[in-house]
Amino acid sequence: MECSRCGSQNMKTFEMAHASYNIGISSWGRFVKLMIFGPLGLFIRPKRNSVVNTTSPPEKPFPVFVILFSFLFLSTLLWLLSIYLRKGSDYGETQIALLVNAIMFVMFSAIVSWDLVRCTKARKKYPERLDKWTHSWIWLQCGTTSEVRDLPRA
Ligand SMILES: [Zn+2]
Repeated sequence: MECSRCGSQNMKTFEMAHASYNIGISSWGRFVKLMIFGPLGLFIRPKRNSVVNTTSPPEKPFPVFVILFSFLFLSTLLWLLSIYLRKGSDYGETQIALLVNAIMFVMFSAIVSWDLVRCTKARKKYPERLDKWTHSWIWLQCGTTSEVRDLPRA
């Protein structure tokens, strides 16, 4: 099939193009990133070229904010616990820690419910997006993309 823009026949499925252009990040790299940056590492993305960006498969929805805030909430909880065990409940810092924890808990609940709703919605759309991706083609000359369903898969 020829490109409607440049007439090139050099077309690939998104899957093939992505595999050959994505010299990307190994799971080991991901692990190291997670160790260094904690859950924030999930937000750090390597720079990639435009073919890779265009052809990347849809991402499985993942409640990343739940993870991030669980981590934050757990740290404030540990802070509260340690200061309470050392100084008791009348100590000033314990009161502050208690207040911070109360605020964190409210924020945490709000974010967890928002993120779970967001994820559930995205999960419903995921099969559709994946199906579109598996049937999408790119012409490598000019970057034109097209959804083609009636070609045999090469
Ligand atoms: Zn073209």
